[in-house]
Amino acid sequence: MAKIVSFSNQKGGVGKTTSCVNIAAQIANKGKKVLLIDLDPQGNATSGLGLSKAKIKKTIYDVIIGRADINEAIIKTRFKNLSIIPATIDLAGAELELYDLDDAETFTEKLPTDKISESFDYIFIDCPPSLGMLTVKALSTSDGVVIPMQCEFYSLEGMSQLLNTVKKIRQLYNPSLQIVGILLTMYNGRLTLTNQVVAELRKYYQDLLFKVPISRTVRLSEAPSYGAPICYHDPYGKGSLEYAAVAKELMLRI
Ligand code: ADP
Ligand code: MG
Repeated sequence: MAKIVSFSNQKGGVGKTTSCVNIAAQIANKGKKVLLIDLDPQGNATSGLGLSKAKIKKTIYDVIIGRADINEAIIKTRFKNLSIIPATIDLAGAELELYDLDDAETFTEKLPTDKISESFDYIFIDCPPSLGMLTVKALSTSDGVVIPMQCEFYSLEGMSQLLNTVKKIRQLYNPSLQIVGILLTMYNGRLTLTNQVVAELRKYYQDLLFKVPISRTVRLSEAPSYGAPICYHDPYGKGSLEYAAVAKELMLRI
């Protein structure tokens, strides 16, 4: 049975996609069978893994609205053991369309991962930057959630909102949802503000923080333009080593 982990934070640009893609690729490269589900209409994980959106036939949108079986939407990437269910901008309409159907059940239904659970060791879901239907679906489907965050003042405010959402999802749909950890991204230990935010986080969420933060590096930000995860783009660089450490810790945590 696959372990299912969502990467979620309602804030945009905090490193959800970068973390999801790179952790998925690391774990796959180490020999586990991994599926990444791109659940963001922007499709950044899809293009970050080098898929050309024009050539994609079935996406997670088709699966959600019941137009495709989940098995049909899985695409093998050119990276070892790593498959993806892609997303395109179509997905942006899914929420409204399901709402129009006036079918509360479809709206809150989990993703049909049960059907493919035997085929993978890990399924990672890259969530959009909101707490709407797509994120609710992702968290209802998941065993755990990783919360990537930048060390900024506003991140602390967002965190309590997100933890409340997790609490609500547990009450309503998924009592066993676990917080796998909070992952600090784009870390720069030389900034005073960074250190203040980290100190605050340690105070409240000590056990939840992943031991290794992800540093801000140019290599990590340029890797998607080569359509490659960091463990292929710059295997011995800082970003790759840090994501490898986080991937290892994640596998111990869930
Ligand atoms: P999200 O999915 O939360 O919106 P992304 O993963 O797309 O966030 O990251 C936002 C931007 O920051 C992207 O341009 C990405 O390449 C860049 N980025 C993410 N992590 C790092 C990092 N550790 N160092 C440098 N740039 C990063
Ligand atoms: Mg993203």
